[in-house]
Amino acid sequence: IGRARGTDFFRIAEQLDDEEREIWQRTRRFVDDEVLPVINEHWERADFPRDLALRLGELGLVGDGIEGYGCPPLSPIANGLIHLELNRGDGSLGTFLGVQSGLAMRSISMLGSEEQKQRWLPAMARVEAIGAFALTEPDHGSDSVALETSARRDGDTWVLDGEKKWIGNGTIADVVVVWARDTEDEKVKGFLVEPAQTPGYRAERIDGKGSLRSVWQAHITLDGARVPESSRLPEARSFGDAGQVLAGTRNAVAWAALGHATAGYEIAVEYCSRREQFGKPLVSFQIVQHRLVKMLAEVCAMQLYCLRLGRLMDEDQLTDTIAAIAKMNNTSKAREVLSEARDLLGGNGILLENHVMRHMADMEALHTYEGTETIQTLIVGRAITGVGAFT
Ligand code: FAD
Repeated sequence: IGRARGTDFFRIAEQLDDEEREIWQRTRRFVDDEVLPVINEHWERADFPRDLALRLGELGLVGDGIEGYGCPPLSPIANGLIHLELNRGDGSLGTFLGVQSGLAMRSISMLGSEEQKQRWLPAMARVEAIGAFALTEPDHGSDSVALETSARRDGDTWVLDGEKKWIGNGTIADVVVVWARDTEDEKVKGFLVEPAQTPGYRAERIDGKGSLRSVWQAHITLDGARVPESSRLPEARSFGDAGQVLAGTRNAVAWAALGHATAGYEIAVEYCSRREQFGKPLVSFQIVQHRLVKMLAEVCAMQLYCLRLGRLMDEDQLTDTIAAIAKMNNTSKAREVLSEARDLLGGNGILLENHVMRHMADMEALHTYEGTETIQTLIVGRAITGVGAFT
């Protein structure tokens, strides 16, 4: 009996247009040829692969579908496929892209002035300039709405004071989107901080991570950091504007989780086909087949979520509720699939060379960032009951 390979049982590829299929293949080739052969060493050394990040720009994968400003044209599905494939290879590189394009570039394109867009977006699309997005603080993660970093107007400048934690690219960024509360009207505003030209900006790398080891996050201190009024994002008028950016990136995390789960399933089915115990390949045992099929069913369900997410985004119909359901579902299911995959590889499952443990560890961070599973659940809970249970 032959065996059906891959995960496209619901014929998702048929639903894509030529450009989407092409970008999928382009990303897949990059991951197979350039990322997978070297990524475990980077992960083990907790080393950021800057050359691979630059390749993302060269390959036209950076820009989140922003129109113009040197960004490659990408439909929401094409952009999702990039996240799927990159994360099928490696979560750190996938997270780098999420911060660079989904958080930093999107903030500038959605909320920035024409001059800010011209200055930053083309260079960021080429990854010649690196971006960061600083919302979370040591004392405010899930309740980032209560952020305490302050912005005081002083003539033509703003003075920023406070701390930010977990900020992806914070130690290497050319531009950091900092969210701070105006001391005058108490509204949250966004500022483009250029670390190299801003005394008072200090970033320390967070070491000792057991997840996403090849992308760096920072603990940032802002101590009287001055930025000109021209660096304030003019369209960022309240916390809700930061939230708008996050709705888009939650969608990207749902695609990313699908990438991680796909890797787990594919590795497990290959391994169980080869590995023999009790004189037979593992796949000949009913319990093993049952577990593989359950994993595949989750992967297929995640694919269908993602396809609809892409179409709804195309029609400008993505809501916070839909993004939250998708992020919650896909990150939780990917975690389960990877835990199964890890176990099906037995002891070999914990070896980096088999690529499952890294995905399993990386999924832990995806499950938490951009709003934890619990917070996504509470966002949906509020929508279906009309009762806010977390504010
Ligand atoms: P907490 O808010 O302290 O939550 C701890 C636990 O309590 C969680 O299980 C949570 O679900 C639960 N909880 C919280 N409130 C409630 C409630 N009301 N009811 C029930 N349970 C609750 N932030 C940025 O701004 N920029 C970045 O680039 C960035 N990158 C990140 C990268 C990584 C690898 C990580 C780990 C985080 C990153 N973050 C970033 C921060 C991330 O968004 C936060 O970690 C996340 O929002 C959770 O906040 P917290 O870690 O403070 O956890």
